[in-house]
Amino acid sequence: MSPDPKPTRAAILDAVRRAARQEQFLEVVSAAEARRRFEARLDPAPLVGETLPLAGSLSRVIAADVIAPVDAPPFDRANVDGFAVRAADMLGAGPSTPKRLTLNREVIACGIAPAVEVTPGTATAIATGGVIPRGADAVVMIEHTELIEDDAAPSIDVHRAATSGQFISYAGSDIARGETLLRRGTQIGSREVGMLAACGLTSIEVVRRPRVAVLSTGDELLQPGQPLRPGAVYDSNSAIIAAAVVETGGEAVPFGAVADDAAALEAAMRSALESCDIVVLSGGTSKGAGDLSHRVVSRLGRPGILVHGVALKPGKPLCLAVIGQKPLVVLPGFPTSAIFTFHAFVGPLIRGRAGLPIEAAARVTARVPLRIPSELGREEFVLASLVRADAGLIAFPTGKGSGAVTAFSQADGFFAIDALASALDADSQVEVTLIGKSDRAPDLVIMGSHDIALDVVVGALAERGVRARTIAVGSLGGVDAASRGECDIAPVHLVDPTTGIYNKHLLTPDLALIPGWRRMQGFVFRPGDARFEGRSAEAALQVALADPAILMVNRNAGSGTRALIDSLLRGAKPAGYANQPRSHNAVAAAVAQDRADWGVAIAPVARLYGLGFLPIAPEHYDFLVIEARRERPAVQAFIDALEDEATRGRIRALGMEL
Ligand code: AMP
Ligand code: MG
Repeated sequence: MSPDPKPTRAAILDAVRRAARQEQFLEVVSAAEARRRFEARLDPAPLVGETLPLAGSLSRVIAADVIAPVDAPPFDRANVDGFAVRAADMLGAGPSTPKRLTLNREVIACGIAPAVEVTPGTATAIATGGVIPRGADAVVMIEHTELIEDDAAPSIDVHRAATSGQFISYAGSDIARGETLLRRGTQIGSREVGMLAACGLTSIEVVRRPRVAVLSTGDELLQPGQPLRPGAVYDSNSAIIAAAVVETGGEAVPFGAVADDAAALEAAMRSALESCDIVVLSGGTSKGAGDLSHRVVSRLGRPGILVHGVALKPGKPLCLAVIGQKPLVVLPGFPTSAIFTFHAFVGPLIRGRAGLPIEAAARVTARVPLRIPSELGREEFVLASLVRADAGLIAFPTGKGSGAVTAFSQADGFFAIDALASALDADSQVEVTLIGKSDRAPDLVIMGSHDIALDVVVGALAERGVRARTIAVGSLGGVDAASRGECDIAPVHLVDPTTGIYNKHLLTPDLALIPGWRRMQGFVFRPGDARFEGRSAEAALQVALADPAILMVNRNAGSGTRALIDSLLRGAKPAGYANQPRSHNAVAAAVAQDRADWGVAIAPVARLYGLGFLPIAPEHYDFLVIEARRERPAVQAFIDALEDEATRGRIRALGMEL
């Protein structure tokens, strides 16, 4: 919707009515039923072939069996430097009973066709790769002979017996003319290229890669590279999906982002159907004002929409259609949902058409340490980070909601919660389907509160070859994980409400504390706001509390900053108190974008967002370490990195005190 500078009352009401309209899904079906309906209408066969020059064929799939047109090697060939002989002449040869052979007047180098026959009692000098001459049936190594220099009749003494065929590769022993050299469906690697070249082939028939149109829709979408305007987001789905298309064996044809406009969307989809084998659109799927994708699809042709609404989380608004022979899929706009449903419904389709095997995903069993509530009636997929503990693998949910782009990249895999369960109990065993490359397990697991300077330490560890995995679960989550032995190090910043001292109260006989750094917490506001500018934090707070028009932004319960805010407010709950985002960045963004007037955040983040900052108190960000693991090399490397002057300098440059 384009912003009207002065919308009339009627226009606003109309827009609200449209936004509030809850169009129903045609019929919500299970994931298995959705797949069945879709596959029943699709041709799963690999696409017909195209001929490519050998050099351009790498990683493509062979479309038809390749029959060897020639032998390799094409002739009987010497495997060593030495002499071509008759094995029968060598009978009884030994160190003390050498056999003498007269040399023929020929030396067979590579590429020379021999002219002289090896007759009984004679030998011909031959190089590795040379053609075995007529009469010879073995080669003796030059090391096992001695040259007898006689100008009239040069000869050799051979000190070893030879068997027939010794050091000879026979014609066709590597590749025999007429045999099936490579089977269709084989993916071409360097070995295959080598085999084809050895047969003299210059081109190969490969399966044509399916052309997959990638479209996004949304008025708010901008292409990366353009400056961000208020309310806009970058079109990340186009990039992720195009890359995933290539990863699964297709050719991505980018169509960019189309506005939420039925005519424009229809035109784009028609042109995509015209030029491509498969069409993938993301967005325009949430129920309400912008939900046009499925309405546009419904008028593109027959058989049309097969599935609209799948009992899947994330991914419910998925729409599967076939227009003519071509599959058209509308993925939910939220990035995590889009990529999930892509892998579940589009990836296998592309692989099949590209002639690639549909790999069974690898799975591992892991324990989920916490309870996860789930919606009854929908199979729910939970992204998880895997950690190896003493008692086996543990899966931590990394879910950030289906809008998160990073959730997928930080996860090792995912597990499902049954549609008939309303929750997964703590300590359940689950089967985790692994995604992406199975990298080696991290050397060090850090779980707790995240901080930008922690990235500096992790970077320093990486330079030392130590791979650390950080899982942001908040300070309290870190304390729990450390006491259960699920991590090596837990970064925390929790104040003891009775003493006002940070973190020391968390110590137990099993946990030690390594000092980290201090982060100055402060009152943040938009620069130039005369209500706060130039005051102390305490005075600014009094101003804010006195004026009900001034809106605050709070923090989530359990965070160290929330404890500080509550102690400052002394029971007051000013306007905006209920707004409780989970990070310093979200607080700073709310103030910078005028959705709130003040909040509490750390100095480096205030600086990043260009906000005014009135210091309140330093907060201690320290590290809990499990005593029993302190001597582990990766834990020692962490402690060393923290003490390293260069690392400390970089941490200070971010605005931390240490
Ligand atoms: P929609 O399915 O269009 O209702 O979109 C649902 C959510 O996903 C909204 O927050 C959109 O801004 C977001 N979204 C839709 N398409 C994209 C895209 N191509 N890239 C990033 N986010 C998107
Ligand atoms: Mg949209």
